[in-house]
This record gives sequence, structure tokens and C-alpha cells, in this order.
Amino acid sequence: MSDLAPIDVGARLARLRERLPEEACDALVVTDLVNVRYLTGFTGSNATLLVTADDATLVTDGRYRTQSTEQLEASGVDVAVTIANDPGPALADAARGITRVGLEADDVAWATQRRWSIDTFSWAHLVPTEGVLLGLRSVKDDGEVDRLEAASDIADAALADVVDRLDDGLTEQAFRRLLEDAMADHGSEGPSFETIVASGPNGAKPHARPSDRVIGATGGEFVVIDFGATVDGYHSDMTRTLAVGDLSETQERMFDVVRRSQATGVDRVAAGVRCKSVDDACRQVIEDAGWGDAFAHGTGHGIGLVIHESPRLSSVSNDVLAPGHCVTVEPGVYLPDHGGVRVEDSVVVTAGGCRLLTKAPYTR
Ligand code: ZN
Ligand code: ZN
Repeated sequence: MSDLAPIDVGARLARLRERLPEEACDALVVTDLVNVRYLTGFTGSNATLLVTADDATLVTDGRYRTQSTEQLEASGVDVAVTIANDPGPALADAARGITRVGLEADDVAWATQRRWSIDTFSWAHLVPTEGVLLGLRSVKDDGEVDRLEAASDIADAALADVVDRLDDGLTEQAFRRLLEDAMADHGSEGPSFETIVASGPNGAKPHARPSDRVIGATGGEFVVIDFGATVDGYHSDMTRTLAVGDLSETQERMFDVVRRSQATGVDRVAAGVRCKSVDDACRQVIEDAGWGDAFAHGTGHGIGLVIHESPRLSSVSNDVLAPGHCVTVEPGVYLPDHGGVRVEDSVVVTAGGCRLLTKAPYTR
């Protein structure tokens, strides 16, 4: 995977600094570890990052003395590292003289906020911010898109390797293991979330966990397979619903409707389009088929350093698609008597439309 475009981590701090005035902050304390990784390349399990207009300080503990220096150097970012068990004094030092200190309101515990306002940043005004880094993270650069595509390619290849084993009378759990092993063989760092293998009636539960049910136990049935791989921390996401045995007429129709709904949604995706309208487009096809109530989740979500990111494609979303957004389109129909069908592709949004990151065939 050496041909992946480089990721410009250094540019991210500059983009964050541009945002600080809009957030009425002179500095931001970054506590969400995914955001710390995004801004510095550091992947340890304990870190607090203080970003001011001119400086940035990462505080972590002694376990990460070597790793933090190595990773920050590899990212080429200008961030000072302080090793401390209690980050308070180092953060106070780094924020000395700053009057408006922003916090990630979605991430900071109440107790921490109280301690910081009374003690660590006692002279400052603490400003709650929301979604600043989520917004920055939602637009991927070429290096990030390359990694999401590499992860998607791994998932595609893994499914192709094991798909014939669906006919072998395996349990859902056994098939999940085969699929995850195949992803590892193709270079995945790990599954991007808990792999879903849901056969027959289990498929009617959108987030069923793999069980000891034998795939194909009732003859003609669907298997919903929702999974992904990770490359350099970037998560792919795809769903295929495959038939085992002969499908009923209703099942054939379910598949046809969901596939048309999904293709309609993908066609709608383009920069400048409201996320809600992609959801509307998918939902309309399913409602026209009389199954509106059986599509009880949102149409999609952003993917990146975590599996569910901004933007959200749903009926309540106010997000608008932009070039570089990487999102899923994943409508489904779930009928307890017939099983479930979901089809999910990941795409990268372009000016005129989108490009598929998922390339696996829809049937076998
Ligand atoms: Zn998925
Ligand atoms: Zn998804």
C-alpha cells in the first residue's frame, strides 16, 4: 500500500486555527482522542492537546514518551510534548494569558469541566464548542480517500474469497470469522466495527449480532453481511445481502426494491445536495413499494477515523454534501416473516456526483 497519497496532518492545525475566532475562542483544548489523532498523528490512549493561535502542546503520560515523539515527528507537526500524569499544570502553563479557552463540549465530563474552571484555567472563560473537529474531519483529502478506498478494496476482496462458503452450512459466527480472517489476510488492521452476519429471520433485525444459527437453515433466505476493514485507522463500510437457496417472490421483490432505492440514493449524491434529500430519494422508492414502515433507520453516514462520522444522511439532517465527504448509502427493508435486505455502498462526493469506493457485485 505504499502508493497511497500522503496525509497532510500539519495542514489540519492551520485549518483549526482559522476556525477559532468563529468559535469565540483563543485556544481549544482537544480531549477527544480521535481528534487528537487527526491533528497530531498520535494514537495513544491518553492525551490532551491544547491548540492556541501560535502553539500546540500535547500532554500524555510516561507510557507514551517514545511513541508520542515518534508519531508527531512522522506527522511533521509542530507540537510540543509534555509528559505528566496530571495534565493540569502543563495545560495551565500552555494557556497562560489566554482569556477564552474552548472545550469540546461533547467530550468533556462535567467533573473535568468543573476542575478546569475552578483550578487549571481559573483566570479564563471556558467556551463550550460543538462539532468543530467533526466538521473539519468530514472533508477528506486525497490521502484519506486513498485509505478509505484501500480499506473498501480489502473488504471487497475478502467477501469474494469466502462468499461461496455461504452454502456450506456454517453458522453466522463461523462465517464472520472466515470473513474477518480474509480481511486480515488482505491487510486490514482489524474489522472496522462488529461484523454483522444475519441470516433468515435474524436479518430482519438491522443490527443483529452473529449467532450460532446455521446459514440456510430454512432453505431460501437472505444473509445480510455488513462489515468493513481498516487501513491507517480509516474505516470502510459496506453491506451485501446475498441469497442462500431459492428466494420467494416477496423476497425477490424486497431485493429489487432495496437495490433500486440504493441506486437512486447514490445517483442523488453530489456536492451541494442536502443529505436529507438523499434520504428522501431512497425512502420514496421503498414507500412506493408499500414498505415505508419497514425502513426504520437513516440512509447513511460519513466514514473516516471512526465508523460513524459527519455528515448524516437522514430525514432530520441539516447537513449539505461537499466535495471530499465520504458517506454510505444504505437503505433497507426488514420484514420478520421474510428476513432483511440492506445494500450499502461507500462513496466519495465529487462536484458533479460521487465515485463508488465499494465495488463488490450486488449478487453472487
Ligand atoms: Zn455498514
Ligand atoms: Zn454504515
